[in-house]
Amino acid sequence: MESFPKALLDGYRTFRTQRLPTEQTRYRELSVRGQSPEVMVIGCCDSRVSPEVIFDAGPGELFVVRNVANLVPVYAPDSGAHGVSAALEYAVSVLKVKHIVVLGHAQCGGIRAFIDRAAPLSPGDFIGKWMAMFIKPGEVVEQRAHETVQDFTVRIEKAAVFRSLENLGTFPFVTSRVERGELQLHGAYFGVAEGSLFVLDRVAKEFRSVREVQASE
Ligand SMILES: [Zn+2]
Repeated sequence: MESFPKALLDGYRTFRTQRLPTEQTRYRELSVRGQSPEVMVIGCCDSRVSPEVIFDAGPGELFVVRNVANLVPVYAPDSGAHGVSAALEYAVSVLKVKHIVVLGHAQCGGIRAFIDRAAPLSPGDFIGKWMAMFIKPGEVVEQRAHETVQDFTVRIEKAAVFRSLENLGTFPFVTSRVERGELQLHGAYFGVAEGSLFVLDRVAKEFRSVREVQASE
């Protein structure tokens, strides 16, 4: 008990005295009825990009999977154990979520390691193998002429969202629900410094500021 981080114990006390009293009824209801979130978020492990914080979500509202660089693998019903795919299957087939949001973000360490091909990114390491799923066989990801490193990084961070959405389309249980109009897929991108949110316009293939999106409605 002594080694348990004090910041967490303090945080729990604050939760218990301040937040829990306002949400106790909701927690009790959820424990009896079970969860029925309408939204699944696939985000990055990055400690600055918590979906519950960004979307101001309470208990039972978001079904969240976080991994390095918010990646969704290609559908592969083989003998391997696929954590993201298992969560996806549960969210779509059991919970029947209505929306899946792939949430990318600025200054992503996974993307940075991928771009820099930096340690610990090597074929034998976990991050290397994990990030390898981002590219298709034979695909080359390179900085364009006249493109700054920062622009290149942002382009690849956004490309990770596109690739994850594309890979979601390889799961039969996802596509069947999308085709029936029961499930919608979305992309978003969080700017850490400003706390800004950009939502993907899938037709135009562009991320638009949420302020811009709201203003146009
Ligand atoms: Zn990240």
